[in-house]
Amino acid sequence: MSDDIFAKAIARLDNAARHADIHPETVNRLRHPKQFLEVSIPVRMDDGTQRVFTGFRCRHDDTRGPGKGGIRFHPNVSAAEVKALAFWMTCKCATVGIPMGGGKGGIIVDPHKLSKKELERLSRGYMRAVAHNVGPDVDVPAPDVYTNATIMAWMMDEYSTIVGKHSPAVITGKPVELGGSLGRGDATGRGGFYCLRELATRRNWNPADKTIAIQGFGNAGQHFAQLASQVGYKVTAISDSRGAIHDPAGLDIDQQIQTKTTTGRLANAGSTITNEALLELSVDILVPAALENVITESNAANIGASVVVELANGPTTAPADQILHNAGTLVIPDILANAGGVTVSYFEWAQNKSGYAWTLEEVHERLNTIMAREFNAVHDLMDTINTDMRTACYAHALNRLAKAHEVKGTAAMFAS
Ligand code: GLU
Repeated sequence: MSDDIFAKAIARLDNAARHADIHPETVNRLRHPKQFLEVSIPVRMDDGTQRVFTGFRCRHDDTRGPGKGGIRFHPNVSAAEVKALAFWMTCKCATVGIPMGGGKGGIIVDPHKLSKKELERLSRGYMRAVAHNVGPDVDVPAPDVYTNATIMAWMMDEYSTIVGKHSPAVITGKPVELGGSLGRGDATGRGGFYCLRELATRRNWNPADKTIAIQGFGNAGQHFAQLASQVGYKVTAISDSRGAIHDPAGLDIDQQIQTKTTTGRLANAGSTITNEALLELSVDILVPAALENVITESNAANIGASVVVELANGPTTAPADQILHNAGTLVIPDILANAGGVTVSYFEWAQNKSGYAWTLEEVHERLNTIMAREFNAVHDLMDTINTDMRTACYAHALNRLAKAHEVKGTAAMFAS
């Protein structure tokens, strides 16, 4: 992971700001995370020894609402990555218009190398270390790469113990039995699917004529694949960290999900290819659903798809964006395409605060309303300002952020 990933993320602000109604002071404010915390977490391992892990929590901006964003457990987590991801959360929440700011956390760890008991101690230790910097009205974590509902339950439990009261709204993505929302599990994939569906309507597509390749078969990739294949799209390639499989006739997605869930691996099907080759397949739609920086200057010209749906955060670098845009490839950017997850997290937080649980139908309907409205608003803005969709999306988000920041005054107001 490049250490300047935060600098590169922030650098995209300037270009977008040219298309937004935003004061330079606000742009400058957004360059600086509001709070950044680095913690050490001692964990007693099963063999009796103590290991000390490094964790982070960043609240990038909370002008529009409490910080919001996941916690990642991954060996490549870094301070710069957490700051970049927190910045993207600020922009993501503003893109879809939910009243939350941006936050992110992480621990440098390969969770697959820990036992369940070690993982629980690490998760609780992390919450103890950041407890005074998160909270239902401060900063609300959630799952991200390699974290899940059980980890959220441990963290919620630990936080509730520290503050001495039941506090489900401190964290989202919890098990439904502990205040999680119906529909949170598939929300990221579903939100991306709703974006694709809106695009298909605009372009008059017949899903049965379109092929999809998905890099990454975790939560987001699996649910997107399932929803897309249910309406007739042909998912011809999927991958996990071990490699990819490709079958031009289309893969059996239900079978792949079942095998991945039970064995942790993809089922044998079609031919085996590399993750890199998957990105360059001549499919209609490419869905990066794993980690950052996979579409770069060196492979962007070889991308065969005409539409990229970014379910991962930050999969495309800025130079690659330019190459794709020049080639006429539409990139539905991460801060819109994967915003379904945080949107239903916001629903979960709202349900916890009100003490009232919504039905699955209500969750789907509200998510649908938000994703369709914001996708079309960003698409319309793109057509008006004649840019790529990412620039339009940032401009759309910056307009909302600007209003919230600037209602409290700018240099111009105070000078008069
Ligand atoms: N980790 C997810 C994201 O990057 C979800 C965050 C949330 O639900 O707060 O959007």
